Amino acid sequence: MLSIREDKEIETLLLKSEALLKGHFILSSGLHSNRYVQCAKFFQYPAYAELAAQKLARLYQDTPIDVVIGGAFGGITIAYELARALGVRGLFCERVEGIFQLRRGFEIKPGEKVLIAEDVVTTGKSIDEVAQLVKQHGGEVVGVASLVDRHMPDPEKLPYRFEWLHSVQAEAFDPASCPLCLEGKEPAIKPGSRGMK
Ligand code: ZN
Repeated sequence: MLSIREDKEIETLLLKSEALLKGHFILSSGLHSNRYVQCAKFFQYPAYAELAAQKLARLYQDTPIDVVIGGAFGGITIAYELARALGVRGLFCERVEGIFQLRRGFEIKPGEKVLIAEDVVTTGKSIDEVAQLVKQHGGEVVGVASLVDRHMPDPEKLPYRFEWLHSVQAEAFDPASCPLCLEGKEPAIKPGSRGMK
C-alpha cells in the first residue's frame, strides 16, 4: 500500500499558488469534490518548481538516471526542472492522434535509464502510456516522480518505484448525495468557470 505523505512546505505553496483548493467543486466528471488540484498554478512560479525538483531529486539521488521524461503538458515543467536538479537530459513526449510520441528530435537510446516525471498522478494511466513509449525506444523505466499523488485506489497498477512529495486525498460524491450540498454550505463551483482549467 502507498502511504500518505505530507510535505508541509509543498502543501503551503500548493495552497498559496491556488494549485490546491479546498471547498466544494464540480469536477469535469460531474462529481462533486472537496478538493481541486491544478498543478500548473504551482508551476507558474519557477522557484516553487525548482524546490519541488530538488526534493524529488534527493529521493532519487542514489539511482542511476540518464534522462527524465514528462508527458505534455502536465509533465513538461517538472521533467525539465528535475533534469536540471539531477544534471541529466530532460525530454517531453506529446500526443499525436492520442498516442504519446517523441518528437522534435528527442531520443531515448537503448539501455538508457529513464525517470518519468509528472505533476499529479491520479490513476497512473498516463504514466503507463509514457512507460510504454520509453520501452519502445529500448529505455529502462527506473521510477516515477510526481509533485502530487491523488492517492490512487489501486497502486498495483503502477509497477514502478513511485516517489511523490504531497498526497491529496480528494473525496468525490454523486451530486444527488453530496454531503457538502446536503450541509447547505456554499454551492459547488466549476473551477474552469473561474478561469482555471
Ligand atoms: Zn455537492
